[in-house]
Amino acid sequence: SSVLQLKNVHKAFSGVPALAGIDASLANDTYVSLLGPSGSGKTTLLRVIAGFEQPDSGEILFSGRRVDGVPPHERGIGFVFQNFALFPHLSVAENIAFGLTNRAVDPVTDAKVVAGRVRDIIGLVGLSGLEDRATTQISGGQKQRVALARTLVTEPSMVLLDEPLGALDANLRMRMRSELRTIRERCGVTFLHVTGSETEALAMGDTVLVLDAGRIAQATDAGTLYTRPASADVARFLNCYNIFPGAVSGDAFASPVGALALGGIRQTSGKPAYAIRYDRVAIRPTDAAAADDEVRIEASFVASEYSGAAINSFFTLDDGRVFEVEQHLSHAAPAAYEEKGRYALVWKREDALVFV
Ligand code: ADP
Ligand code: MG
Repeated sequence: SSVLQLKNVHKAFSGVPALAGIDASLANDTYVSLLGPSGSGKTTLLRVIAGFEQPDSGEILFSGRRVDGVPPHERGIGFVFQNFALFPHLSVAENIAFGLTNRAVDPVTDAKVVAGRVRDIIGLVGLSGLEDRATTQISGGQKQRVALARTLVTEPSMVLLDEPLGALDANLRMRMRSELRTIRERCGVTFLHVTGSETEALAMGDTVLVLDAGRIAQATDAGTLYTRPASADVARFLNCYNIFPGAVSGDAFASPVGALALGGIRQTSGKPAYAIRYDRVAIRPTDAAAADDEVRIEASFVASEYSGAAINSFFTLDDGRVFEVEQHLSHAAPAAYEEKGRYALVWKREDALVFV
């Protein structure tokens, strides 16, 4: 069943739409990533769900009930901000207990209850031993855990996280990905995690929602999103597709670099484009012939870049456009390409995505 439903939610600022008809349904007990570029309306959507902002129109339902007019603190929702927003003069435990002070729990008669819950949460998020530490004397990752604990102690039915890893350095960000997933599994509530990073969204979400110009452009699991983006715009956000504009013409796609033979998956999106994933392309000498089931274009090599277990090579096509190829490194030394050298870039027809 769903913990949150959004039906045709609109929100504009001074007449400019930030949310232009959001429809989405979030299942109970799942990790949901909300991916979108800066300015796409991610924070606005979280604020509308939390009740900090009123939608202009549309419906928001928590577990099937409309929440119009319900103030934020009565919505049973946790909010974790990018900058953590901790109280510097309070200890770790006091920061976490603060989450409970303006709740229904009576601070005097229920002091034992509060202390017990705070202790449980501290264990859950891995902060045991740091209870009395000032929040100015803990690391970024620990601050992140305090911010999360302060929210979880209120036993929310859902937690909204606005770019929660944005303030952390790259190493810690990677570690916190799996930590956040583990903490969520332990407490069993739905997390809605906003990020501008496609790798973070794909790595973390059981479901990924893609926000484009104030609408949900796609909502699916990471594997499907990666292999079957619903439109060229979604493919562009994923940062792993070469995309050509143009149109289908007979048995080819007429692109700015010539006719690309068809044969791949066709997807209706309303905006024609041809997309081939970086890692589906082979680099060959120009005198090597292509097979019947292959598409071949020529390009000039610019540079290669290592990123962990992969090497990304950049080429310029004859119309000046950049084309990227990703090769996963094996034990063999990677091939070196000649700067400004001409190469054939070849892929299987059936590996392309054709948007019509
Ligand atoms: P994101 O979090 O994806 O970067 P935001 O939700 O912050 O995007 O912003 C979406 C759009 O709404 C932007 O164009 C932004 O300038 C505008 N916006 C957001 N909040 C306000 C506000 N309080 N007043 C006016 N415009 C706003
Ligand atoms: Mg934002």
